[in-house]
Amino acid sequence: SPTIAVLALQGAFIEHEQRLQSLGCTTIELRQAADLARPFDGLVLPGGESTVQAKLLHDLGMFEPLRQRIAEGLPALGTCAGLILLADHFRTLPVTVRRNAYGRQLGSFHAEGRWEDEAVPLTFIRAPRIEALGSDVEPLVTLNDAPVAVRHHNQIAGAFHPELDDDNRLYEAFLAPLKRAY
Ligand code: GLN
Repeated sequence: SPTIAVLALQGAFIEHEQRLQSLGCTTIELRQAADLARPFDGLVLPGGESTVQAKLLHDLGMFEPLRQRIAEGLPALGTCAGLILLADHFRTLPVTVRRNAYGRQLGSFHAEGRWEDEAVPLTFIRAPRIEALGSDVEPLVTLNDAPVAVRHHNQIAGAFHPELDDDNRLYEAFLAPLKRAY
């Protein structure tokens, strides 16, 4: 089964690990630069606070090695703050995001999005809005016709928290190329 590394510096990483394990993955936690030497097939960047996560990545010497591996094609799934890391910090994902874009009233909310013609439950927590898509970025999930999850080659990113809803499609899209290899 694939081994998935989950960035475990800050934020909602435990729930991702549990979900990945329930889908048959082995998980490892990335907490320090030495952890990057362990073999893994994919990377999950969890929700939390992107500015804190980016600072810790830099301070721990993990930022550039991770950026390089994503740029070289490592399958990556970023959720919420993870989307912001990919778009604004690593800059491997060509989308424009606006942090905390849903305002105070809508700080956290549940909604029903669309994946092709099917409904998808979505949980947003101080979520970024995806404002523009660069080239080779494909919307995967939309809410009121606006993209809330996208794919760009090896990277999948969503503004919501898939680890909090009972729907595995975003994980399955991330894992599909990995499972084929095993
Ligand atoms: N507001 C957070 C940020 O800007 C993201 C929130 C989340 O990951 N749930 O990084």
